[in-house]
Amino acid sequence: MKEISCKLLVIGAGPGGYVCAIRAGQLGIDTVIVEAGRPGGTCLTIGCIPSKALIHAAETFDAARSMSAGENALGIRVEAASIDLSKTVAWKDGIVGRLTSGVAGLLQKARVKIVHGRARFRDGKTVEVETETGQQIIRAETVVIATGSDPVELAALPFGGRVISSTEALSLTELPKKLVVVGGGYIGLELGTAFARMGSQVTVVEAMAQLLPLYDADLTKPVKRRLTERGITVLTDTKAIGLSETGAALIVEGPEGRQELPADHILVAIGRRPRTTGSGLEDLDLDRTGPYLRIDDRCRTSMRGVYAIGDVTGEPMLAHRAMAQGEMVAEIVAGKKRAWDKRCIPAICFTDPEIVSAGLSPDEARSQGFDVKIGQFPFAANGRAMTMKDEDGFVRVVARADTNVVLGLQAVGSGVSELSSSFSMAIEMGARLEDIAATIHAHPTRSEALQEAALKAMGHALHI
Ligand SMILES: Cc1cc2nc3c(=O)[nH]c(=O)nc-3n(C[C@H](O)[C@H](O)[C@H](O)COP(=O)(O)OP(=O)(O)OC[C@H]3O[C@@H](n4cnc5c(N)ncnc54)[C@H](O)[C@@H]3O)c2cc1C
Repeated sequence: MKEISCKLLVIGAGPGGYVCAIRAGQLGIDTVIVEAGRPGGTCLTIGCIPSKALIHAAETFDAARSMSAGENALGIRVEAASIDLSKTVAWKDGIVGRLTSGVAGLLQKARVKIVHGRARFRDGKTVEVETETGQQIIRAETVVIATGSDPVELAALPFGGRVISSTEALSLTELPKKLVVVGGGYIGLELGTAFARMGSQVTVVEAMAQLLPLYDADLTKPVKRRLTERGITVLTDTKAIGLSETGAALIVEGPEGRQELPADHILVAIGRRPRTTGSGLEDLDLDRTGPYLRIDDRCRTSMRGVYAIGDVTGEPMLAHRAMAQGEMVAEIVAGKKRAWDKRCIPAICFTDPEIVSAGLSPDEARSQGFDVKIGQFPFAANGRAMTMKDEDGFVRVVARADTNVVLGLQAVGSGVSELSSSFSMAIEMGARLEDIAATIHAHPTRSEALQEAALKAMGHALHI
């Protein structure tokens, strides 16, 4: 049995863990990271990156298909379009491979030791890892738990056979003719839309009254419209009950009573739960907030010298939150004075069209007692949107009525995900409407709608 000691031990090399380890290495901290799968975690291997690759392929195919149907005003003719999903998936796997080996390279460059295998806690400062070359004991002064999350299973629909999670959906090599998606959150809608754009007949089943319940109705309206235009059936207020007797259909119950939805695959995307079992974490008896590990504003758990970051610590379960926590914890371990002082964590739905939200929505701002000014500028009045033949959506700014300090920025529209950094930078820097309005926004870009929204909130938009 081999034993090593280090100053910092990171469990899990997802976006939280690998960023923490790289920064710690840069700061000269003797760091070991343990990873049971591939460096990059959920995000790089079965989450953010592969889903966006699939979405891009689906979008490209859809554009080609509509051109081959002779439906476009651009004057482009395409002969019959087809898609070979196994090639698409191989391309996606290539991107994942490049990124995961890139992360391994970055860890090495930062002099971080990578141990491959599943870590099991013996106590708060010691883990054992079953590696290919035998058991490895690792002792550390400080431990960071970055074990991430797993997809939630429905008791009546356990994963297996036709019932799949997002992980399997991202590696299908044959296009399902009929796909039923259980869950109308961002993962279900992103993947459901992608499969519909590739030619699957898609039904989305959502137990709540509304899709994407975290976003307000104005933001979700264009997404719902597109779902309908694409022929996606949306059943809200509807619960998945279980498989039919033959196993070839999903039984659901909704306002219309019970019905059977035939499906080649049933994608269950109802949320994710923190990975806190199976690695001895239970025995550490760390304090919890619900199912998540409880942390303070420095990501400290209830045990001295044990930190937790990323999905295992709760919502929002997003890669950029995990990375920001990882970077902060590395600096704290290096002795720097840091605490979580972020003003916003932007969130994006890579649906069609995309939604981005940073800071407070109008309702959230009002419920926090703010008197607000709101400016909304439609892409229908934006030159760049016209040249891209997609004028759906808008940019909206929410500001304090008394000071004009920006509290929130949201947008829905094609490609708006790229506006997210301007949104969060404005909020993080405490921008006022005047700051955004007085910043020259290059023409012609969709980002001009941000400047116009700020002008509109001040009562003098120029292009509307
Ligand atoms: C389909 C899908 C799409 C998504 N899209 C987005 C998106 O567009 N944008 C976004 O911000 N987020 C997205 N997410 C969420 C994002 O992937 C997660 O928020 C992010 O990966 C969390 O990072 P993490 O470091 O906390 O954990 P993870 O990425 O889950 O990494 C944890 C790592 O720990 C390892 N591990 C666990 N236990 C042990 C152990 N005992 N020993 C050794 N290793 C262990 C695991 O193997 C894993 O590699 C998506 C998720 C899914 C499923």
